Order: sequence, then structure tokens, then C-alpha cells
Amino acid sequence: MAKYISETLQTPVAYECDVLVAGGGIAGVSAAVAAARQGSKVILLEKQFLLGGLATAGLITIYLPLCDGKGHQVSFGLAEELFRLSIQYGYEAKYPSAWLEEQSKEGTAQDRQKQRFEVRFNAQLFAIAMEQLLKKEGVTILYGTAVCGVQVEKDKIASLIIENKSGRSAVKAKSVVDTTGDADICMMAGEAIELFEGQNALAAWYYSAGEKGFDLNMLGVIDISDEENDGTMIKLIPKTFQGVDAMELSEMVQNAHDAILDDFRKKRMQDETLLPTTFATIPQVRMTRRLSGKYTMTLQDERREFEDSIGIISNWKKRGPVYEIPFSALHGTKIKNLITAGRSISAQDSMWDVTRVIPACAVTGEAAGTAAAMTDDFEALDVAELQGRLEKAGVKLFIKSLEM
Ligand SMILES: Cc1cc2nc3c(=O)[nH]c(=O)nc-3n(C[C@H](O)[C@H](O)[C@H](O)COP(=O)(O)OP(=O)(O)OC[C@H]3O[C@@H](n4cnc5c(N)ncnc54)[C@H](O)[C@@H]3O)c2cc1C
Repeated sequence: MAKYISETLQTPVAYECDVLVAGGGIAGVSAAVAAARQGSKVILLEKQFLLGGLATAGLITIYLPLCDGKGHQVSFGLAEELFRLSIQYGYEAKYPSAWLEEQSKEGTAQDRQKQRFEVRFNAQLFAIAMEQLLKKEGVTILYGTAVCGVQVEKDKIASLIIENKSGRSAVKAKSVVDTTGDADICMMAGEAIELFEGQNALAAWYYSAGEKGFDLNMLGVIDISDEENDGTMIKLIPKTFQGVDAMELSEMVQNAHDAILDDFRKKRMQDETLLPTTFATIPQVRMTRRLSGKYTMTLQDERREFEDSIGIISNWKKRGPVYEIPFSALHGTKIKNLITAGRSISAQDSMWDVTRVIPACAVTGEAAGTAAAMTDDFEALDVAELQGRLEKAGVKLFIKSLEM
């Protein structure tokens, strides 16, 4: 079989915008909202037909904490706005009354130390609420659209090649936010990238309904804090997955479906009424490929002061540690008008495990979108001006500015 075929392509330019956001997960939604609020013409491309990525299509319905586990909120701005939006039409579990009911007896400092500022939302309601928000902000959403290539001219992305129901076409943008989760655009554009060496254990989450009501079955290793981990988490299969190869991902998803069927059959023996209602429709991968940025975060960055901080996150695994995220972890040095956010920012393995979760994706998404509205050269951006705009939007940038 021949290794390559040659195609002759004449690609029509279908769309133009100021800021192109590739991927509509939590990071992409945050970036698109932030850029639109700065007055940019924004297009968001999403290969699924719903927003939220892993958080909705992937059934990861736990919005991990906005607080440090010691009673202090650390993530603000869109991280908090999306948190509240996720439960605007109802929540599933873990309602953080001590944080959301200001006037209640529960809302005391002591209660906030015990109860973390997290919640379990409903995937479908959150996806629709995010879509409504984007429409309100004037973002153009293009669903069913996968970015399959980029055209780089000198050191900038001039256009992105997309494929959707209308065929193959190009989008021209001044700046590009890579929120594909897997740094797809960074990879396509030739920006420096790294793969996650540890690879992904199989997860197979599904919802079911039965005698006990509606339930989330979290099969496989789950993201719970060290204090909640009672050691009962089991690896479903020994094999692990890198998550950036089409055939390997297909195998992973089929393994997840097998695990769901096995689990359902066992549970059905106890409850004849039990039925699965939804399973994840995108692969449940945690860390795959990321930017190797101008700065790469590590766990040693705990409480470190960064002059170019764009927001603060906590550590979902334990109470106490907090981190400022430097702007320089969001962009590289090769492609000037490309920035990333979400689970593909520049962070080393154990820190990557901290920066990949939902609140951190919102924090980095908001910063990336705001920056993308300001420039087509991220290395040359006036970071103080970016910080001013983020603060104006309600983001807290420095740990020392928190009341702790
Ligand atoms: C098993 C598991 C359990 C987890 N548990 C938790 C938890 O309890 N709480 C928590 O906060 N976090 C948890 N996480 C992590 C968290 O869910 C994700 O890391 C986070 O939601 C990632 O958001 P994102 O926007 O960066 O990327 P994603 O959610 O991956 O979004 C990327 C989006 O881009 C789209 N896309 C990808 N490539 C392209 C392309 N080429 N063209 C167009 N669109 C594209 C995708 O369809 C997707 O919608 C868990 C993750 C896993 C896998």
C-alpha cells in the first residue's frame, strides 16, 4: 500500500473573525465569552454538537472547588460565573450551601472550612446554559466542525482548515485560542508540545436510573481528594492510553463500553428496573498532549508570586495549596498569535493533574480569551494591561490580595 497520496486542494475561505476559539469545552467557552466581552468578533468551533467537552459530553459533572479547603475562595471571575451557571436550572448533588447562601446560618466561616466550594451539576442543563450565554455574548458557534489543519505564514497562523457538513473550508483569524484539550492546534502549527508519559487509566462513567433513582456510576479511577479516597478505586484494565491516536482512542472507548455493560449486568441482578441512561460520548482522557510553553508550572510553584499572574487556583487533591498561574504558561515562543488554555497549558505531570480540572480551565480560558482580544502577538502583549482587564472582570490575580 502506498504510504502517501497527493491531493490538489482549493480551499474556500468560509469565515473571518478576530478571535478563533478551537474547542468548546470549559476552557473554550470561557475564552469565547471573555474575548466577546472585550468587543471582539469571536467564532467558536466545536466538533461535537454541544458545549462543555469532558464536563458535559464526557459526563465529568463535578465542578471541583473554587476554594482552598480552608474556607477561602481563590478562583473568581468566569470560574465562579460558570460555577453558578452550571446549577442555574438545578443541580444533582453536593450543593455548597455554606458558599452560596450568604445569609444562612450555614454560611459561616467555620462551615466554609468544612464544606468545599464544589458542586455536581447536570450535564445537559449546563451545556444548554453555556450555549445561551455564548449567544447572549454574540459568539458565533459552529458545531460539528473539526479543525483538521492550519496554514502558518512566517510565525503566525493565517488560517485554520476546518471540516464539517458543508465540506472543507478555511477560517481566517487574527488570533487563535487552542482549547481542544489535546493541544491539537499547537501540534498542527509546529508549536513546542509534550506528551503525558504517565498515560490515561480507563474511565467508564455512565448514568443509570433504577429503584434508587438517578445515579452517576464512576467506573475506574476517579478524581477525588486524598481525604475522600478510601482506597477502593480500582483500575478497570491494566492497559493505559496516550489519547492522541485515533485507533487507540477507538479501542479505549470500546473498552469503556464493555466495562459499562459488565457493571450494568452485575447491578441489574440486584435491581430489575435498572437501565443505563447516558454514557460519555467523548473519550475520558485526562492528560494527553500539552503546550511546552515559555514557562512550565510545577508543584513547587505553590504560593509562588508571579508578576504575570492571570489568576489563582487551588489543589483539588488536598486542602491548603494554592497557585498563581503565570501568563507565560499559556503561550509558546514559536507561533506568535497562538495561545492555549484548559488541560493543555504548560504544566509538568503532577502540576498538570492540578491545572487540568474544571475551575482551572475556566481561569486559564478567561485569561486566554481576554489576551486574544488584545493582540496577535502574545509574547509582545502588555501583561499589565491584560491584568487590569482581568481585574476589572472580577478576577483575583495575586494570592497576597486574598483575605486569608
Ligand atoms: C475520568 C475523568 C474524571 C475527571 N474528574 C474531574 C472532576 O471530578 N472534576 C473536575 O473539575 N475535573 C475532572 N476531570 C478533568 C476535567 O473534566 C477536564 O480536564 C476539563 O473538563 C477539560 O476542559 P477543557 O476545556 O480543557 O478540554 P475538553 O473538555 O477536552 O474540551 C475540548 C473540546 O474541544 C473539542 N475538540 C477537540 N479537538 C477538536 C478539533 N480538532 N476541532 C474542533 N473541536 C475539537 C472537543 O470536542 C471538546 O469539546 C476529569 C477528567 C476525566 C477524564
